[in-house]
Amino acid sequence: MLTTLAWGALDAASPIAPLDILRREPGPNDVLFDVLYCGICHTDIHMSRGHFAGAIFPMVPGHEIVGRVVRVGEAVTRHRVGDVVGVGCLVDSCRHCDECEAGHEHFCDAMVGTYNALERDGRTPTYGGYSARMTVDENYVLRISPKLSPAAAAPLLCAGITTYSPLRHWNVTKGSRVGVVGLGGLGHMAVKFAAAMGAEVTVLSTSDGKKGDAARLGARDFAVTQDPETFNRLAGRFDLILNTVSASVDYDAYIGLLRRDGTLVLLGVPDGPVSFNAFGLLMRRKSVAASLIGGIRETQEMLDFCAEHDIVSDIEVIVIDQVNEAYGRILRSDVRYRFVIDLARMKP
Ligand code: NAP
Ligand code: ZN
Ligand code: ZN
Repeated sequence: MLTTLAWGALDAASPIAPLDILRREPGPNDVLFDVLYCGICHTDIHMSRGHFAGAIFPMVPGHEIVGRVVRVGEAVTRHRVGDVVGVGCLVDSCRHCDECEAGHEHFCDAMVGTYNALERDGRTPTYGGYSARMTVDENYVLRISPKLSPAAAAPLLCAGITTYSPLRHWNVTKGSRVGVVGLGGLGHMAVKFAAAMGAEVTVLSTSDGKKGDAARLGARDFAVTQDPETFNRLAGRFDLILNTVSASVDYDAYIGLLRRDGTLVLLGVPDGPVSFNAFGLLMRRKSVAASLIGGIRETQEMLDFCAEHDIVSDIEVIVIDQVNEAYGRILRSDVRYRFVIDLARMKP
């Protein structure tokens, strides 16, 4: 086993702090890589603070990971030593169920999360990217184009795929009217992708502080959700709304902004049940849906789309010692637009 320096939480009340973990020696199909960068997703905060049931401690968060390959098993064909690679939210799945065969490994009942999960042996905990190195099966390791900055590409592995996938699934194309609620890590990627797909994008944000950024990211319109007039002005406007807010919102108000057959997609994870009135949907056959990250094939497609369209995340690079401070700033919506940890600068 490879003793590896990491940063994680010992329990839901503790800050993120250094600890040693064990990584497996690479087997025939494994890739061993040094972690270069890891993005901080809001989910890392939900998970490490025990907001979701089933938290496993000690927990090493991080599922927006970019690294450089240092060793490969003898059967590995997809990656070579020296390659820059990525790992997102999953590191394994059963590989033969309908979901796996369709490329929806993230929906597999046996999906193994990058952290806060057990490997398929049912015993070995998984640890995420706030660490010096990782061993991952080659089929769950993505290729990152040399055209992309490795640091700014890291958030694509979760914030990127989570927003790209629903835009594709709901067929966003030239002229589609897309609303993005919440301009954070997910939200700013949603704006970039929807604009690159030709959509007319409107950002709906709690204050007007991010208005200039929204336009720079590609949005045509901007609205403040604290202003009730917003919900009159934009009534019946959108084909698709991606809600990236990490808390509950007034779902009925957003349903009112959909046009006929429009869909409100929940990406953010509120802490309680979600409720809305059926009448809001009956009138004009609207839908409320949700979407979870994306499969391996679609994640590679998204990364290749980014290389082609010159899309990366807007980031603020930090060292691991600043991680707890960064969590506090994310909770205050004070991030433009993703913190990325430089793990090559992690000191023992
Ligand atoms: P983030 O960077 O913190 O962005 C969330 C944004 O929502 C904030 O920047 C803020 O935007 C807005 N917001 C925050 N609190 C709010 C409140 N109380 N009321 C209204 N708006 C509020 O978070 P993120 O990393 O993008 O993640 C967003 C959510 O998606 C989290 O719940 C996360 O767990 C979830 N997530 C889901 C998936 C999935 O597969 N579905 C994947 C990754 C993350 P403004 O300043 O513009 O208002
Ligand atoms: Zn995430
Ligand atoms: Zn499966």
